[in-house]
Amino acid sequence: MRYVSTREQTRTVTFATALLRGLAPDGGLYVPQNIPTVNPGAWEKSTDFGTMATNVLTPWLADEVSEAELKSILKSAFSFPVPLVRIGQAWVMELFHGPTLSFKDFGARTMARLMNHFVDGEPLTILVATSGDTGSAVADGFSGLPNLRVAVLYPKGQVSSVQEQQLIVRREGVRAFAVKGTFDDCQAIVKTLLVSPGRLRLSAANSINVGRLLPQMLYYYWAFATGGWKIADVCVPCGNLGNLTAGVLAHLCGLPVRGFIAAHNANDGYPRYLTGERDAFGESIRTLSNAMDVGRPSNFERLKFMLSDDQMRHMIRGSSWSDDDTLASIRRVYEETGYIADPHTAIALAAARDAPDPVIVLSTAHPAKFPDTIKRALGSAPATASELTSLYAMPVRVQSIEANPNILRSKLEVWN
Ligand SMILES: *Cc1c(COP(=O)(O)O)cnc(C)c1O
Repeated sequence: MRYVSTREQTRTVTFATALLRGLAPDGGLYVPQNIPTVNPGAWEKSTDFGTMATNVLTPWLADEVSEAELKSILKSAFSFPVPLVRIGQAWVMELFHGPTLSFKDFGARTMARLMNHFVDGEPLTILVATSGDTGSAVADGFSGLPNLRVAVLYPKGQVSSVQEQQLIVRREGVRAFAVKGTFDDCQAIVKTLLVSPGRLRLSAANSINVGRLLPQMLYYYWAFATGGWKIADVCVPCGNLGNLTAGVLAHLCGLPVRGFIAAHNANDGYPRYLTGERDAFGESIRTLSNAMDVGRPSNFERLKFMLSDDQMRHMIRGSSWSDDDTLASIRRVYEETGYIADPHTAIALAAARDAPDPVIVLSTAHPAKFPDTIKRALGSAPATASELTSLYAMPVRVQSIEANPNILRSKLEVWN
């Protein structure tokens, strides 16, 4: 298996290189040069996620990771349940039972273990700028691995209380920095350090790393294996389109998806593109489903590389839902079924309502992460998840810094 950049395809790299670099040197995103075939035997009738994961990813990784190593990486990455539950007319695949209660745990935990496997010698410091779920998933997923350190940057005062607590909990090998600035300042600091690292050995963990796509394919297979269907639709709550891109990749490897539904909030550039509009993308808009607030989704470049416009429009249909629609969906789902959906899942459930049976809805976050929105919709907040209660009893560690890359560089050089 070799990987190429979406922009320049003459040079190919190994998976390890693509994983450790993140972005290609020409600014493009890494994509597989060829799509391997994954035989139905790899996933059909699977009853154990870790075993299925090893079978599905073996064609992808066999030339770089031994089967025994891969098995141990995936077993330790997927140490939580991934249930499929019937909610109304939909099948909801709950992807939020990992340690930080969002589906970002799938990508982060696997990427961390694979990076740790490929790094030798001096530890690699992973930088992550975050305004939400990614930072805590990365901090948690990378913590305690001997060859890796993590520096998490977030805009001071601009993340929710639960999100901040999840970021600053003291973790082995992780440092949290509250940057006096915006999310864009945090991202700019990361970019500056990656370009001029000084004595540091640095990489970044963000949503464009190809290392996230492989583990994110797995739960699509798992849904089909658990449901036992020969064919089904899948509805995906979308922001940066990484989740959808992973599903498309699984489909290109042979998974019998009848069609994808891309469910968006008011950031509707992709649905508008799918209906034929040109230049559909623009600035992002803030919504209640904030993990989907992306104006120019970076994985669009990957989808365009893998599929023609016609193929994409044939395979995927999009829709977009306002904040009022989101609240109405949370209310309706609760009244009809007693189920509490988080704002991101609520959008997908709204989008899946008119889909043919069976339809799988990917549920990306635990409702307890969004108590204010649930309270607005239902009149009372959901029960606090035990993972979140215990979070507030844990020791924290955070350093407040000016939005200046040199300050961060000197802190990382000392690492204390
Ligand atoms: C990141 C995220 C999304 C969007 O996923 P993309 O891969 O960026 O499209 C949806 N829901 C939640 C809860 C998320 O954290």
